[in-house]
Amino acid sequence: MPHLSTSLTELAARVAELEAEREMTLRLAQTDSLTGLVNRGAFTGSLCERLEAAKAAGTSVALFIIDLDRFKNLNDTLGHHAGDILLAELGQRLRDEAAPHEMAARLGGDEFALITEDADPAARADKLVALLGQPQTIYGRAVTSGGSVGVAVFPRDTDNAADLQRFADQALYRAKSAGGRRWSSFDEDLREEGIRRRTLEDDLRRAIPAGEIVPWFQPIVDSMTGRTVGVEVLARWNHPERGLVSPIHFVPMAEELGLIRAIDEAIFEAACARTAPWVADGLIEVVSCNVSPRDLLDPSFSRKLIGRLAKTDLPATALTVEITETFLLQDLGLARRHIERLAAKGVNVALDDFGTGYSNLRALMRLPIQTVKLDRSLIDDVGRDARVSKLVASMLHAARSLGVRIIAEGVEHEAQALFLRSAGCDRMQGYFFARPMDGDAMEAILRETEIPERLAATG
Ligand code: C2E
Ligand code: CA
Ligand code: CA
Repeated sequence: MPHLSTSLTELAARVAELEAEREMTLRLAQTDSLTGLVNRGAFTGSLCERLEAAKAAGTSVALFIIDLDRFKNLNDTLGHHAGDILLAELGQRLRDEAAPHEMAARLGGDEFALITEDADPAARADKLVALLGQPQTIYGRAVTSGGSVGVAVFPRDTDNAADLQRFADQALYRAKSAGGRRWSSFDEDLREEGIRRRTLEDDLRRAIPAGEIVPWFQPIVDSMTGRTVGVEVLARWNHPERGLVSPIHFVPMAEELGLIRAIDEAIFEAACARTAPWVADGLIEVVSCNVSPRDLLDPSFSRKLIGRLAKTDLPATALTVEITETFLLQDLGLARRHIERLAAKGVNVALDDFGTGYSNLRALMRLPIQTVKLDRSLIDDVGRDARVSKLVASMLHAARSLGVRIIAEGVEHEAQALFLRSAGCDRMQGYFFARPMDGDAMEAILRETEIPERLAATG
């Protein structure tokens, strides 16, 4: 039956073809197209397999996580194409240098990994750092990014793949914080730090529903009359063991963990409830709340905020939302939509920390912002450094002609207050007038009108 055998051969060939295709697809799915190295998915699988094998054989495995030190910078100055060339070249070098028993991978961006069974991780790490420090030629130019390496070792540090990656990451972070172009190995110090941080993270997750994060208040004072016209709401964490924790310690962590929105919402609600009677009684006009740049990236942020505000007794016209220019410049269109939507309801938007970042004035001026908060770093030097004083005075002058209201932050001394007032600054805030305080203390002061006289008496 020649017929049947031909079709069988054909069939066999077709099966082999499909097999090869499948293998190719599989390989492609496991390969990073830019560098030809194994990609993150395949790397994770392979790491688990290698740990299993090492466990059975009683050998050790070292994991190196590699991150370029100046990649973002090079990418920004030389362009994305140059960045790609650099990464591809580095991938090639890693592959060329790797021993047969090693595996190099690209985890994404400018992050790479190397798995080895090498008995001497320190020597291997030295070699990696040296390789990363070698210049590369891009567009005929010698470019050096330099890189840092974090190391964790199985079974010395842990017996599982997830922890091994986390520990190597922790070590990498330490190497970068120490200035880069070096390697660091996981050790007991990092283990303790990790546990401390995890405990704090767990505490923070519990703290929000437990109501431990509470609003404090700092007076905002009218420069001319010296009266308290508003308050800025500042979050505080009443930690059951650590006592009062400052937002500089938990806000960045909350942003990383995706908890900042829950915190901002809890603070907003509590602050509105507390301040609504102060506004109703005519004690203050403005309640100013901070929002994280993270929240603002949500296109429905302003709509949701208006919805939540409507459920409180605080009139929309008494609310100011403080946002930072980092967010504004990330997405000007979205920023404008948020600001306009809030303004339509009477909610004011203030630009916080002005004078710290890029201060891309031209972009910012196109947004309908009525209030700007001058950052403490500028106010610090007012009256001390003639050039800064001049700069601040001319900023105040410009703001005035544009109809923008300026609030000076971090006013600590009388001399600063007097200078700012004479230069036409509308409102001020700072330790000279009052430190942030809890709701009871704030209410007591507002009802007694103690601080208001402070500047009036001195001026
Ligand atoms: P910020 O919005 O720039 O707040 C002003 C900070 O300066 C506050 O620190 C305040 O206590 C401090 N300050 C005020 N006057 C003076 C002064 O005269 N001298 C000095 N040295 N400092 C002064 P705080 O309360 O520790 O807040 C730090 C930052 O944490 C805030 O900076 C804000 O970015 C963030 N933050 C605070 N509460 C919240 C919140 O509810 N949500 C979000 N997302 N961020 C918050
Ligand atoms: Ca603020
Ligand atoms: Ca500020």
